[in-house]
Amino acid sequence: MLVYLYARVSTAAQAAQGYSLPTQIEACKKKAMALGATENNIIQFIDDGYSGAKLDRPQLTKLRKAIRTAPPEIVICYAPDRLSRDVAYQLIIVKEITKVKAKPIFVSMEYENSPQGRLLFNMVSVLAEYERENIKERTLRGKRGKATAGKVVTNVKPFGYDYDKEASMYIPNKDSKLIKYIFTEVADDSPLFTICKNLNLRGIPSPKNKHWNVNTIRQIIDNQLYIGRLIQFKNSNTPITSNVPTAIIDDTLWETAHEIMKRRKLFIANNTKGTYLLSGLLYCADCGRKMIVCPQAEHYIKSENKYVKHIYYRCKSRSMSARYPGMKNDLSCHNRTIETKTLDEYFWDMLLELIKNPDKIQKMLKNDNITDNTVIIKKYNDQLATMINKRKKLLAWYNDNYISATEMDDQLAIIKKQVDITNNQLAELNNISNKVININDKVDRFINVINTTDNRVDAVRKTIRRVDFLRKDLTRSRWVKLDMDVKIFFK
Ligand SMILES: [Zn+2]
Repeated sequence: MLVYLYARVSTAAQAAQGYSLPTQIEACKKKAMALGATENNIIQFIDDGYSGAKLDRPQLTKLRKAIRTAPPEIVICYAPDRLSRDVAYQLIIVKEITKVKAKPIFVSMEYENSPQGRLLFNMVSVLAEYERENIKERTLRGKRGKATAGKVVTNVKPFGYDYDKEASMYIPNKDSKLIKYIFTEVADDSPLFTICKNLNLRGIPSPKNKHWNVNTIRQIIDNQLYIGRLIQFKNSNTPITSNVPTAIIDDTLWETAHEIMKRRKLFIANNTKGTYLLSGLLYCADCGRKMIVCPQAEHYIKSENKYVKHIYYRCKSRSMSARYPGMKNDLSCHNRTIETKTLDEYFWDMLLELIKNPDKIQKMLKNDNITDNTVIIKKYNDQLATMINKRKKLLAWYNDNYISATEMDDQLAIIKKQVDITNNQLAELNNISNKVININDKVDRFINVINTTDNRVDAVRKTIRRVDFLRKDLTRSRWVKLDMDVKIFFK
């Protein structure tokens, strides 16, 4: 344990008051040894005949330099006023000591527990905090400057690149061939699923060393770094974009691939929106996830001599983005897909049957209302608790200097918005449950809407909030009788 010992007297008169150098040194040594130091490890800095009013003392200067260049574990001194008579100077020295993680020890007092000691330590930590903030601010400014000059400042390593630390730049590595392959395939109109399948079958690991899935391909297609456009500080209010020599593919290939992606998106939008009775309302009764409308490739039907497009409702757990080729029957969901046409017809017939039995609707509505609101209210309350936790975490991160004040403020604003929305929804729900719901009115309204509509999609959306679906028949034959559970939740 390295110990620096400092002692000082200004005049002979002081020495007479019991502050003589030998007394100070003796007491300091004793204390240091009590703390585990050995005589050999104690280095002495003695100012004999110097006033404590100034910092400019030969041995003190030497001590301060030694603290910086060879930090000790302890700096020991008889009393704080031996370092300086001036509290402000004491503060400077104590700060220098604590900055190198050494401990200041004063023999005459339990320094940390004395009012003076507490004041000093508080000031030291406030100053340190201020300095840290300053440094962070300067670093951020420096980083933004670097980014503006087209240098890489984040330590994220994008797929296809190595990071050249000296040049602060990404250098394409062997995976860049894969990037090129993926873009070329997309531009050739290969389905994303097929690209994944080929990569997986060839045993090529994905960026995360896992199986390729459709989302990974999408992320790659959307990453502008591959045409040499670097975007940094993405989540700040002012992202910085610069052109860098990192291009792996050329602009033409990029544009072709993006054209294809856009066309597909449009195709899906045109083929799935608005026309299906249950799109957006249907949930899988096996796993609880949404069921979405999936257009399939066209099939040739020989007997009718034409191409037909089959469109299905499919549970999200079973959709292509949730699975990878080679993944057999270990799906978490076992619900089968069903053709939209089939289910839509079945469902509409069910509604027509239902409006003949108002008693049945009434019974369904009663069950629905009781269970349903409590579940949703609980969900909202859980959401609120999560957000409050998030807020706590943010504050802790800020206190520990993981994030800056601006980052914290941004996040807090987002959380506040969510909390407000959730609170409003809760208030609305409580309002509804406080009102006595006139179920008879609801039944009448439902029957009326279904009876008089000329737009089935519209009528369903007006009256029904959610439909749970489970298909139970397992045969693949086209002629088998469908067996399914359909549960309706009314608005
Ligand atoms: Zn499911």
